[in-house]
Amino acid sequence: MARKIERIVWHTAAHGRDGQAFDTTAAQIDQWHRERGWNEIGYNVVIRFDGTIEKGRDPRKIPAGVAGINETTYHICFSGHGDIAPLTPQQLESGIRHTIEMLQKYGLTERFLNEPDGLIVMGHREVNELVRRGLAPTPTNKTCPGKLVDMDQIRLLIRQRLTAPPAPAYEYDSQAASELFQGLRQVYSAAAKLKLPEEAMRFLNQFRKQPEVDAVIERWRRESGE
Ligand SMILES: [Zn+2]
Repeated sequence: MARKIERIVWHTAAHGRDGQAFDTTAAQIDQWHRERGWNEIGYNVVIRFDGTIEKGRDPRKIPAGVAGINETTYHICFSGHGDIAPLTPQQLESGIRHTIEMLQKYGLTERFLNEPDGLIVMGHREVNELVRRGLAPTPTNKTCPGKLVDMDQIRLLIRQRLTAPPAPAYEYDSQAASELFQGLRQVYSAAAKLKLPEEAMRFLNQFRKQPEVDAVIERWRRESGE
């Protein structure tokens, strides 16, 4: 039976020394966790400094990430040490993308958006808030995913990514839009004088009705009053 995932949890490998954070591999974490007597790595994925995602424990199995809520959680571990160095920009980007993919995969996107304080995406240390709410049994004294990882900021970035309208597939420029409009008008006029076959005009109309071309021309007409 598939387990029901309710939260995505961020972790740090807490791997560093003398002020330097290390680019931990999933294989290293797997070895540490086996040395602890576990079957295998406890996290579902590990995200390296360059943003590469390495697979950990199969998410269909129960992970080992946060005592007391493992059955209902998915665990992302970031290489390095979140008390020593912030996530690299590539880790942050990759982590946000992977978290969004998992929110969608596990049907959690609506809950994430509708419950801003629901900790649907959470840092390991925030299990203490779940304990306070009576939603988890075991508190932690860890700072995981690290003092330099601001989970409120990360949730905000994910929220913005999920709610932002898709960027248009062109860059609007009123001068170029005017040239496109005038140019098309000239082509239509020349085609009529030349009595070009209907087939040729159909191609021209297809171009004019292509969604981005249409959007550019309609915007230019609105703004110029043509
Ligand atoms: Zn952790």
